[in-house]
Amino acid sequence: MAFPTNLKQLFNRAPKKNNWAGLIEAYRPWLPVTKKTPVISLYEGATPLLPVKSISDRIGNGVQVYVKYDGLNPTGSFKDRGMTMAISKAKEAGCEAVICASTGNTSASAAAYARKGGMKAFVIIPDGYVAQGKLAQALVYGAEILSIKGNFDTALDIVRELSEKYPITLVNSVNPFRLQGQKTAAFEIIENLGNAPDWLCIPMGNAGNISAYWMGFQEYFSANKSKKLPKMMGFQASGSAPLVIGKTVEEPETIATAIRIGNPVNKEKALLVKNSSNGKFLSVTDSEIINAYKILGKEEGIFCEPASASSVAGLLKLKDEVPKNSKIVCVLTGNGLKDPECAINNNDSIFHSGLNPDINSIAKTMGF
Ligand SMILES: *Cc1c(COP(=O)(O)O)cnc(C)c1O
Repeated sequence: MAFPTNLKQLFNRAPKKNNWAGLIEAYRPWLPVTKKTPVISLYEGATPLLPVKSISDRIGNGVQVYVKYDGLNPTGSFKDRGMTMAISKAKEAGCEAVICASTGNTSASAAAYARKGGMKAFVIIPDGYVAQGKLAQALVYGAEILSIKGNFDTALDIVRELSEKYPITLVNSVNPFRLQGQKTAAFEIIENLGNAPDWLCIPMGNAGNISAYWMGFQEYFSANKSKKLPKMMGFQASGSAPLVIGKTVEEPETIATAIRIGNPVNKEKALLVKNSSNGKFLSVTDSEIINAYKILGKEEGIFCEPASASSVAGLLKLKDEVPKNSKIVCVLTGNGLKDPECAINNNDSIFHSGLNPDINSIAKTMGF
């Protein structure tokens, strides 16, 4: 193609002006906001839906697999979708402080949005089980951090009680505005694909996100904006799979700390989603999670956190059940940079250290 020589032609080739102003502005009619709601936004949402050939090829049968890369939200996880709503509504109600229990991403997101809205953010985290990147964020965003000797489930019990006794708003996924914001990811997928996918594969911790997606898919289906509803496929880590084994896990354990939850807040909702969508819940081992994590990194250039890779690990495990020529979306809930320790301990890269700064010996090390 010839290079345009006149300015007008050049101008027409420039990308459209970016007027995205966050998901509340984009989906206002679908959300419980009014003109009076002060919108607290970091322009979250509108994340890419990327085709992943390496996964499609492994499934075969003409199946097309995409990932919804929600780790590209402002604080690096899908939690921002819910937080813009929860914090805007808290601000509207005149609240001055928010609180959450968190395995990390909720606290990072709550802190960023609360501070942006001029509110205080308290976060209660389980001692020693929060990935470095997430802790760094909460610190920089100016949260007040309360680290307890106990797991997420204990932390949640505490914040629930605190928010009942004191003037402070709870922004965990028991807060209904969170799910309202999160349902917009389903809208975006339908808008990108022109229809709902056949399967939606998603990690489950407290199971708020799977419930939110289902709400979004149903709303667009009812409004004739999609012609079908997906089967909802929820995945948990095998050491932390209360929704798969059907009972609370007292001491949940997994490398995927974001879903290290033994007693999911939204379990009833999640079971309803599974039944009404004809879906399935399954657990994946830490090594299956790491395998998917590595494939996405090495073959797709996509760095997600281990919890997120469980959606792809689950799909690979269900390979033989995937319908021919179907379209599948796997949700990548968080960014890989959140958990650098996991990355450094789980990769197949070659790292030559301590080399002398000498061209010949470096070239030799490189195999020339
Ligand atoms: C919060 C979180 C999840 C789990 O979402 P739920 O709504 O609790 O099921 C999964 N992955 C990441 C990265 C998260 O931050």
